[in-house]
Amino acid sequence: MQDEPPRSIVVVDDDKILRFTLTALLEEEGYRVESCQTAKEAMGRIITGAPIDVVVCDLQLPDGSGLQVLWALKKIDPDAAFILITAHASLETAIEAVNEGAFAYHAKPLDTDALSQSVSNAITQRRLVIENRTLLDRLQSANEELRASNTAELEEKNRELERTSQAKTQILSTVTHELKTPLTSIIGHVGRMLRHPGRVGPLNDRQRTYLETVHNSAQQLKDLIDALLDVAAIESDSFHLSLTDMDVQTEIEAVVGSMRDQVSESGTSVVLDIPSGLHRARADRLRFSQVMGNLLSNACKYSPPSATTSITAEEEDGMIHIDVSDTGVGISRDDLPRLFGKFFRVDNSSTREVDGIGLGLFITRRIVEAHGGTIWVESEGKKGSTFSFTIPMARVEGLPGGAGLSEAGGDRETLEAVWGGPK
Ligand code: ADP
Repeated sequence: MQDEPPRSIVVVDDDKILRFTLTALLEEEGYRVESCQTAKEAMGRIITGAPIDVVVCDLQLPDGSGLQVLWALKKIDPDAAFILITAHASLETAIEAVNEGAFAYHAKPLDTDALSQSVSNAITQRRLVIENRTLLDRLQSANEELRASNTAELEEKNRELERTSQAKTQILSTVTHELKTPLTSIIGHVGRMLRHPGRVGPLNDRQRTYLETVHNSAQQLKDLIDALLDVAAIESDSFHLSLTDMDVQTEIEAVVGSMRDQVSESGTSVVLDIPSGLHRARADRLRFSQVMGNLLSNACKYSPPSATTSITAEEEDGMIHIDVSDTGVGISRDDLPRLFGKFFRVDNSSTREVDGIGLGLFITRRIVEAHGGTIWVESEGKKGSTFSFTIPMARVEGLPGGAGLSEAGGDRETLEAVWGGPK
């Protein structure tokens, strides 16, 4: 191990004998000692010379105060120690010096053993402070290195995950595409046999029941595949809208009409309340129908027979606001925040029996958001639920798009239509 260089001490006192005594004493202890006679000389030494470990300084110097030497020392090296020598009468100043960062003070006449002990303590403290700081610096740089390597590792892992996820989405999309072709053929042929039994020969009751089961199951499978294809498109950002200006009332009526069978099978009924002059919407017609179809289908699925679903639409701040309200089983407060998540299904006795995979609302939300709209739900326990969403209005030529662009003005003629329901 290398020998440490001797510690550097500066003694500042105008008393020649005291200077000589202290220098001799400290040199005997193995320190390298320099001495100064005035504050000015001491400050010059502190500012321009080699680093100092301890300054032992008289308070009263011919050209100033020991405190000035203390301030100069702390400015140059805050870790260097300062020991003040005072007359008995200057106790208050000595305490002030300690408050300003002096390590210790000794009153005259000096106890040289105590002073030597103070110097030794000051040097130990200085060494510890420096060691601590070095350790802290090392720890900090090790931390930074770790953080940098962790970030690089995480970024690589993220890229890998993204590649895997894209590959998974691609496989899912290819497989589901391939599954759809034979399914479409099954649904088509079985559907034709059911609709036109005369063309393929008469069906007996059992054959009809079996074929209906095949048809329903194949249709369910196709719905599932369509949902998975939508999820794959959403997750690979290849989900595109084909926007047109469309009449909301016509589109909603078409959706309700196409779901007439499902609505009447559920025993529920649907009521529309849409002002006839409602402003046109700017939307993807097929995707809009998908949103309406899903909300209406859920309203029927999760309502008891004889319940009513009402669909209303109105203009609001440059958007068309649509509500689909049912009087069904409702949704508990705990389930509401998770409802639009992927594969989420409420698990209770009223919903468990109903077919579904928990993708409808996830896809619905993405479609609405892709249009720049929002979707939300309100439900009061078992009293039913209202799903609400907004989509942008179509722009009126010559006006910036946005609120209050109604072509119909204030006249709210209401069209009411009822489908399904127990007869
Ligand atoms: P799915 O109906 O295929 O399960 P969705 O994503 O459309 O999937 O709906 C998720 C869940 O939200 C459903 O399983 C059901 O528990 C609940 N839910 C949706 N709509 C309603 C509704 N109108 N009333 C009560 N619960 C509903």
